[in-house]
Amino acid sequence: MMDTPSAPHRLNLLHSVLCAVNLGVIMLDGERRIVLWNSWMARHSGLGHEQVIGADFFSVCPGLRGGRVDAAIQQALYNNFPSLLSQTLNKAPFELYANPAAAARNERVQQAVEITPIAVEGAPRHCLIQINDVSIAVGREKLLREQAMVLRSQTFSDGLTGIANRRHFDVAMEKEHRRAKRGGTPLSLLMIDIDHFKAYNDHYGHQKGDQCLIQVAAALAGMLKRPCDLMARYGGEEFAMILPETDVEQATLMAEAIRARTQELAIPHERNNSEAKLITVSIGIATQKVDAAVDIEALIGAADRALYNAKRAGRNRIVARLPD
Ligand code: GH3
Ligand code: MG
Ligand code: MG
Repeated sequence: MMDTPSAPHRLNLLHSVLCAVNLGVIMLDGERRIVLWNSWMARHSGLGHEQVIGADFFSVCPGLRGGRVDAAIQQALYNNFPSLLSQTLNKAPFELYANPAAAARNERVQQAVEITPIAVEGAPRHCLIQINDVSIAVGREKLLREQAMVLRSQTFSDGLTGIANRRHFDVAMEKEHRRAKRGGTPLSLLMIDIDHFKAYNDHYGHQKGDQCLIQVAAALAGMLKRPCDLMARYGGEEFAMILPETDVEQATLMAEAIRARTQELAIPHERNNSEAKLITVSIGIATQKVDAAVDIEALIGAADRALYNAKRAGRNRIVARLPD
């Protein structure tokens, strides 16, 4: 049978464990003097065991006086209450650095701090401070948050042109439609379609076609004036513009500006039947009037029919229709 280790041997074991653990360990007595300061603390603070043992905690860490760590120590010593200071609420309270280079840059390790009351026989209560380096977890969290943001923006933007995509249009349309009904405001929708674009692709090639879509999309999106207006790629060579709080007269002005702006881009289109032989658009306008709310499908249907009429009437023009 093995002998149980003697008391001094057990102390040695404990000491080895304290030296080896991968976290900062500090013990304070009832007077807040440092009675224990492990190797991790020495490595990360640059202060050796011999420099701090017996010293007042706040003379060693003056920056912590009056802060949340101070409050948590008092809670532990006087109220027998443990605390956990998370990294998010308490930005790296201890002056601890992964290495001298990080110290020179003043880049502290990210910390989760746990403060626990410890009963000591025959002496006032002590408190144990454990400091975990959570830098890796914090870094990973930041990366995940950033990636989530990128993904989110990608799901709402069109891969080719970078403007809002169809999904974004659907979501915005729902929101603005509800807002218009609630607020009793008009809501206009423009359907914008490039004229004879199939012929453009056939004549200049698909890559040129893509470039043309990118250029037109950027120009049209650049015409938005208010944050609630939205220009989206509705599909193929068709764009949709949502104009909240906009009546049919104002929408017509906007549509005319878009039609003119597209022609001003002066993108050659040999096979466009128009005289100018440039890229042009036809636009259908539908407006939901204040006193005649319709559903979204009816509004889109009216804009589609207006666009069809604009095409039939010769293209490079605008037509407005009220929803049926
Ligand atoms: P209309 O004046 O009546 O609108 O005639 P159109 O030729 O523009 O209309 P149609 O619907 O017949 O053809 C649309 C063309 O748009 C067909 C398709 O090849 C092209 N197109 C759709 N999406 C893209 C795209 O992402 N890139 C390119 N290059 N072409 C596209
Ligand atoms: Mg077209
Ligand atoms: Mg089309």
